[in-house]
Amino acid sequence: MDKLYSPLKMAQLRDKYDFRHSKSLGQNFLSDKNIIDRIIEGSGVGKEDLVIEIGPGMGVLTAAAAECAAHVTAVEIDRHLIPILAETLKDYDNVNILHGDIMKTDLKEVIQQQRSRGLTGKVRIIGNLPYYITTPIVMKLLEEEIPADSITVMMQKEVADRIQASPGSKRYGALTVAVGFYCTVSHIANAPKEVFVPRPKVDSTVIRLDLRGEQPVNLVDRKLFFETVKNGFGQRRKTLLNALTGIRGLKKEEISSVLQAAGIDPVRRAETLSMEEFAAVANEVAAKVQHAEEGY
Ligand code: SAM
Repeated sequence: MDKLYSPLKMAQLRDKYDFRHSKSLGQNFLSDKNIIDRIIEGSGVGKEDLVIEIGPGMGVLTAAAAECAAHVTAVEIDRHLIPILAETLKDYDNVNILHGDIMKTDLKEVIQQQRSRGLTGKVRIIGNLPYYITTPIVMKLLEEEIPADSITVMMQKEVADRIQASPGSKRYGALTVAVGFYCTVSHIANAPKEVFVPRPKVDSTVIRLDLRGEQPVNLVDRKLFFETVKNGFGQRRKTLLNALTGIRGLKKEEISSVLQAAGIDPVRRAETLSMEEFAAVANEVAAKVQHAEEGY
């Protein structure tokens, strides 16, 4: 039998089920065993582990994960793929396909259900992400603090580069700081366009995110930290003094004293600040806001 990832097998399934790839759902399927193996190995999945897969497509990664894990739950939005997945995964009794939108799926509940069945292994989230919602998916997983041990996902290279950027570089931005706040990032593999059917316009990268056990910086107010980062990068070309003026109603002179108290030169731009420096600024904003509220 042709392997599931072979273009011929995919074409047969497309014909049999009259399936058409949806560009708007980001349906570029993997047809390269080496990359599939790199994602599975890179995720660190072991035989006790629970896997959650985002967007199984025709099931190439799902089948590979099912070979190594205790259980795989895969969430697929496209109803046309559900009967195909029923066929391609019929030999696995440790796979559950959920038809739904990953953005609306309660993953804590999914994990809880598997835990209540007695599964105690690590939680590994994997996926070849639909590129139109890469960032929202990653941020949902992090902000909702899904209790996952690792998140190993393929995404467009440009987004992976932003996530992995260093302060001072052009790609360093709010996404870098936000992801870095929740996890450490490692590079797993590069994937050229040629390993997908159909081929996307851009190259891709697989990265792994490992959730931090502890918050990397001390914060008075986490929401304000993210607000400070977002405002700082909102107008990249502005100095911090100008970009942050107005945050929580603070005037320019107040931001100037916030930056001074945080030890940051007000003419610096957000892209030069480390996470620790953003934390220092956010904590001084919090102090200033509190001071104002107390009527000083
Ligand atoms: N894992 C398969 C592979 O590598 O061949 C398919 C990957 S393809 C890049 C992305 C998959 O995510 C598609 O099957 C698509 O239908 C699905 N998808 C798109 N948006 C989704 C969403 N909001 N929730 C769940 N799945 C989604």
